[in-house]
Amino acid sequence: MNRIIVIGGGAAGFMSAIECGNNLGRKFEILIVERGKQVLEKVRISGGGRCNVTNGIKDPKELVKNYPRGERELLGPFMQFNCEDTVEWFRKKGVKLKVEADGRMFPSTDNSETIVNCLMQQAHIHQIKIMTSTRIDNFYYQNNRWVIEANGKRMEANYLICTPGSSNAVWEILKKMGHTVISPVPSLFTFNIQHPVLQGLMGVSHPKVELNCKDLKLKSIGPLLITHWGLSGPAVLKLSAWGARKFNEVGYQFEIGINWSGLGKINEVENAILEQKSTTSKQKVTNTPLFELSSRLWTSICNYCGIEDDKWADLSKAKIQNLTQNLLDCRMKVKGKSTFKEEFVTAGGVALKEINMKTMESKLFPNLYLAGEIIDIDAITGGFNFQAAWTGGWLIGKAIGEKENQ
Ligand SMILES: Cc1cc2nc3c(=O)[nH]c(=O)nc-3n(C[C@H](O)[C@H](O)[C@H](O)COP(=O)(O)OP(=O)(O)OC[C@H]3O[C@@H](n4cnc5c(N)ncnc54)[C@H](O)[C@@H]3O)c2cc1C
Repeated sequence: MNRIIVIGGGAAGFMSAIECGNNLGRKFEILIVERGKQVLEKVRISGGGRCNVTNGIKDPKELVKNYPRGERELLGPFMQFNCEDTVEWFRKKGVKLKVEADGRMFPSTDNSETIVNCLMQQAHIHQIKIMTSTRIDNFYYQNNRWVIEANGKRMEANYLICTPGSSNAVWEILKKMGHTVISPVPSLFTFNIQHPVLQGLMGVSHPKVELNCKDLKLKSIGPLLITHWGLSGPAVLKLSAWGARKFNEVGYQFEIGINWSGLGKINEVENAILEQKSTTSKQKVTNTPLFELSSRLWTSICNYCGIEDDKWADLSKAKIQNLTQNLLDCRMKVKGKSTFKEEFVTAGGVALKEINMKTMESKLFPNLYLAGEIIDIDAITGGFNFQAAWTGGWLIGKAIGEKENQ
């Protein structure tokens, strides 16, 4: 029997299965094998239950900049299927996506079930078989066919699509087969910090900071959110993604500097302070925040610099220096990480040099295709991780279709 087996019923698995169905008609039995009780579980919980499907970025050259791993290799794939194609793909299936101010795109229903239902419906249309509660324990290539072992049963397929997400067990199988697996480490996490400036400020945010980890030569810019355990928000998540491997190497113990001011040089910050000093000299420093800092955060930074009831006019040189320093580079020790509940991914996976990025086929084995989190691609938050899964899945469907329809 002509068969395509897909390992894992996630975003990449469904997209590849549906596109195989779309490009091959009924030539093949297409079977998704899922270890969980339900398919599309991550899609369901993603984006806080809203599913951040993709991003509004249109230019593939801009799009790739959001991928700490895969930046170079994804340009070709995105030339073929990018965010706009994802929007169009869902639109043709009756799902409207809307874009938010920061570029993230969600179903207009704000409900991930809309995406789940759409994918399930498409699977139904293409008569894709779905086998749940079935874990694939092993697979190998024998006599020009793929042999899959699952729950003590043996199945054969012409094509094997490997989309199990971040799975240590599958990485082990692929390693034994000869594939290189870049060691997986977590990405998209928040920082555990105990620092006097942050104390009691849970929920307070600042629209734009620059985070600088000088020791590891990492920087990021974006909004910052204070949590009860430390720091979160886009600036932190971005830094965690770009530094995923380096932070892992130092056991998630490192120092960061926060630039609250939006200015680049010490004399610029000092000038802003001196100007404020001259214009509001009779007012209390803590009552006149600078740099759009919220009143509570400003007061906390002032207190940390020894400024309590001081009026601007009375501010000593030493306190001005201290304030300047902490507005430009407020240094905090990170002691560990916490999971960001809205989205987390694994950095690492099957080495991209062993994958043909035009087709997503393994360069080591024929008719083995890989996409999604199993390969060494991951992104910052914003819908980019799903986009990589949609693109990979779509390319697989196209490639198998072209092979068969030659
Ligand atoms: C809480 C959370 C929220 C997220 N929100 C977003 C978001 O809003 N936007 C975004 O872009 N990204 C988001 N992500 C990241 C995104 O979910 C992943 O990048 C994406 O799901 C990867 O797709 P995938 O198909 O490769 O893997 P998965 O979605 O993980 O699917 C793989 C499937 O394979 C199955 N499987 C594994 N091993 C086997 C086996 N041996 N046999 C059979 N089945 C197997 C798994 O059970 C799973 O169902 C989020 C992640 C998390 C954890």
